[in-house]
Parts: sequence; C-alpha cells; structure tokens
Amino acid sequence: MIQINNLKKSFGLNEVLKGIDLTIAKSEVVVIMGPSGSGKSTLLRCLNFLEEPSDGIIRIGEFQVDIDGKLDRRRKKEIRELRKITGFVFQSFNLFPHKTAIENVMEGPIIIHGTKLDEARNIAQDLLIKVGLGDRCNHYPAQLSGGQQQRVAIARSLALNPVVMLYDEPTSALDPELVKEVLQVIKDLAKEGMTMVIVTHEMNFAKEVADRVIFMDNGVIVEQGTSDEIFLKPKEARTRQFLSIVE
Ligand code: ADP
Ligand code: MG
Repeated sequence: MIQINNLKKSFGLNEVLKGIDLTIAKSEVVVIMGPSGSGKSTLLRCLNFLEEPSDGIIRIGEFQVDIDGKLDRRRKKEIRELRKITGFVFQSFNLFPHKTAIENVMEGPIIIHGTKLDEARNIAQDLLIKVGLGDRCNHYPAQLSGGQQQRVAIARSLALNPVVMLYDEPTSALDPELVKEVLQVIKDLAKEGMTMVIVTHEMNFAKEVADRVIFMDNGVIVEQGTSDEIFLKPKEARTRQFLSIVE
C-alpha cells in the first residue's frame, strides 16, 4: 500500500530524515514513537507532501512520486493525486472555525471530488454518526470539546475516502478525559481494516492497536517490530532509554 525508499529531508543544513525505508501493507496499523525532534512529524508530513522531501521515492496506492524527478506539471499532478488519497489528522484539529461540523466534513468532497451538495451532506452526516457525533452536525468547532473537534477532523479526513490515514499525535492536545473517545474512533477504524500510520506516545493504545511499532531517533528508524518486541524486549539501547522515560 505504501512504499518509501531512501526518504530524506533537510531544513537548510539540518538533515532531519536520513534515508528512511518503509513498507506498509494494506490494513496495517503502524505506530511511530520516538523522542521529540526525532523527525516523526516530518516523516508523516513528507508522506503527503505537506513538506517537500529532499530525496527518495514515495509510492502510495497506485501513485508514485520520485523526488529526483523535476518538479514539472506531471509531478505536481502526481503530488496532488497522492494528497487526495491520504488523510491527515493534526494534533491541533485544524477545523474551519466559521463552518459547522457537517460543513467542515462536506468541504473536501465538494471541493476536491466535485460531489453534489446533497450527496456531500449525506456522506458527512454518515461519517459524523460513525464518529459518534450524529447529534452535533450543526455545532461550530467552538461549541465542541477538543475530543469532539478531533473526531470531526477524523470524519473530515475520511470523507475523501483515503487509502491511508496519517495521524500526528492526535490526542496530545486533549485533556486526559477526552483522549479515550478519540482513540476509540481510531481503534474502530483499525477493526474495519483502514491502513493507518499513527505518531503517538500512548503506549497502551499502541499495544492494543499496532500491528507494528517503529522507534525513530535522530532521523532514522532505530528498530521496529510488534508492540511486544518493542515494549517488552527492545534490542537497542536508545529504545530502552526512551521507553524508561515515557513509562
Ligand atoms: P518530532 O515530530 O519527532 O518531534 P519533527 O519532525 O517535528 O520531530 O522535527 C525534527 C527536526 O526538524 C527538529 O530538529 C525540528 O527543529 C526540525 N524542523 C521541523 N520542521 C521544521 C521546519 N519547518 N523548518 C526548520 N526545521 C524544522
Ligand atoms: Mg512531532
């Protein structure tokens, strides 16, 4: 479903991703952990070109972008296509404040897929019901709790029918009592077979949901394995040290 080869990203002289190789299967749930500044967000953002990678090849579904290639019309089109099929959920929700929940969810299908208003409304309503917000369709973001806003954000991403969902610390801006409802929505999607890459520090959640846990440090994948392999018997000293701090 996703294949990344030798993905590199520098900001000026600072090389933040140092040649990441990663293959993710359909329906696989991958959790990425690692210390602050290790490049987790940059990796996720490069995957859907919120950041322009410096080098490498990214293939998602049937679309492939070779960073070496010229940034010509064809490649710009490839990047647009690749964006359409990846859902991205931010730490900070990023809803349109002047639009209601349902309008936030309808926006993508209308603008990007050219879906008709009535149909977009139906799609959005179904998705809001799915994330447990059927009774909040006409609320504005400011009238919703953080957990509810994040669930709207998830519904908004799902509205584009992505082949993969990318989450960058989806619960770290939430009050503790609101974390569970967001994680539950993500767990439900995992059960349905959604392919997902999730950056999170929630270890118990990772244990429950992850098919694979990746530990990143300093721009490289230090080690990866099942949650048992990473949490119970990590091979690398850097992983052990990180786990001893977050636990
Ligand atoms: P993480 O998500 O693991 O905390 P990030 O991917 O956000 O790490 O950041 C990795 C490194 O890249 C950090 O040193 C950070 O300062 C740098 N960085 C991230 N985004 C930018 C940017 N837009 N411009 C310059 N440096 C950046
Ligand atoms: Mg980050």
